[in-house]
Amino acid sequence: AALYGDRRRNSAGCNLMDPVQRASVLSVLDRQSDERIEAACLVAGQAVGAAPQPVVSPVDTRQTAGTIRPARPEDLEAAVTAAAAAQPDWDARGGAARAAVLRAIADRLEDNRDRFLSILAREAGKTLEDGIAEVREAVDFCRYYAGLAEDQFEGNRTLPGPTGERNELSLGGRGVFLCISPWNFPLAIFTGQVAAALAAGNAVLAKPAEQTPLVAHMAVTLMHAAGVPGDVLHLLAGDGAGVGGALVGDPRVAGVAFTGSTVTAQTINRALAARKGAIVPLIAETGGQNAMIVDSTALLEQVSDDVMMSAFGSAGQRCSALRVLFVQDDVADALIDMLKGALAERRAGDPADPATDIGPIIDDAARQRLADHCAWLASEGRLVAQGTLPDETAHGTYLAPHIFTLDRLDQLEGEVFGPVLHIIRYKADDIDDVLAQIGDTGFGLTFGVHTRLESRWRRLFARARVGNTYINRNMIGAVVGVQPFGGEGLSGTGPKAGGPHYLLRFAVERTLTVNT
Ligand code: GLU
Repeated sequence: AALYGDRRRNSAGCNLMDPVQRASVLSVLDRQSDERIEAACLVAGQAVGAAPQPVVSPVDTRQTAGTIRPARPEDLEAAVTAAAAAQPDWDARGGAARAAVLRAIADRLEDNRDRFLSILAREAGKTLEDGIAEVREAVDFCRYYAGLAEDQFEGNRTLPGPTGERNELSLGGRGVFLCISPWNFPLAIFTGQVAAALAAGNAVLAKPAEQTPLVAHMAVTLMHAAGVPGDVLHLLAGDGAGVGGALVGDPRVAGVAFTGSTVTAQTINRALAARKGAIVPLIAETGGQNAMIVDSTALLEQVSDDVMMSAFGSAGQRCSALRVLFVQDDVADALIDMLKGALAERRAGDPADPATDIGPIIDDAARQRLADHCAWLASEGRLVAQGTLPDETAHGTYLAPHIFTLDRLDQLEGEVFGPVLHIIRYKADDIDDVLAQIGDTGFGLTFGVHTRLESRWRRLFARARVGNTYINRNMIGAVVGVQPFGGEGLSGTGPKAGGPHYLLRFAVERTLTVNT
């Protein structure tokens, strides 16, 4: 039972509706709003890297959130060499000792929550609500994997065997693990991957997204202070092709955890397969073309709330976000009216302002791609509603939220990673076709159903090839240990992050047989 996290307790987070907690968060944000972080790569505990480069803030692109010194080839070489040398000792410490370090990291993350909120807002454009959830998730990952490390990685299991023979099974680290994380959860996913790889007894090369090295630098500094040796965990910032590409090709890298686009995961997979030497596992969490089905029995007020949160929360920049809403014809007009009303209430703007619902898009290239998509659908006469952007957003990479209609799902060519919702009407008899359209995308990350007919959602759930299904609620914000997260097909390799089987993929299994 311990395997399923019975001892799990999620982080309490912070309640912005409570005036005392809110005032305390805002005072820290206020004090730090001008702070510029000067970050570097961290190799064997030392700050290294090329000349500092600015990290542009999506809130106002005339400003920087700080600077980063990207990794040079010699930094990569030094990091891999030190990691390979340090890993056996880290592995030999055992699961319980590593769990203690992970819990110390969790405590420090909580203690530094408000500093993280500030940098998450300025570097990644995260609203305060999103930032609070992100720190909580990072804390949860550390504590959850600490529990798994104790349960799964401490000591050996004795197995049955004939008289005169002793058999033992043990789990250990693979060696040097490369963790490549995305900008949309620059703290939570970054920390989750690193904590898992460390918990399983690996040394780690952490490669943060190009857009968000500052949060990663803060996180790694804190992990070192909490007791992870500098030789065991290295931060290597830089671009994906240069830094990520070189590390993926290094024969000393024994495993890769990647969260990001499907195309990049496939590129990494091919590079690993082409490498000489050992066969190397890839753990990939990628995109989705996530759908929700709403039938005529659904409670529309609740649907409207859940759709708004799922499609426009985090400015739609979650791989779990709702992209395509299938609504039964009979209730479509009523629901669309509600969504239009709700969209008009959403406030875009400075993510560090507690009144903001929708922060910026991560950078200008991403914003431009989304704007082109919206312009194309608008020119086809498919616009249903569009939010507004206040003046204060003029210098940031903001995009107003949009709602469009489509006839069929295959009109979308790929994932639209932003605050854009597509609605497709269906007739009651065509629900099997709806399911087929969803299946035909090849993605399988999240899926929502709103219906009061239990037989209907049970049937849909049984037939959907999707990692995380949510019935009569929103479909984002999977909680560690509660909704282990990850998809199938084009959406990822599994195992699920924040689930009981995650660490096993970061590990090797060994048996020992002794003739006594
Ligand atoms: N785990 C997140 C959620 O459930 C999404 C992670 C991602 O966007 O990569 O919303």
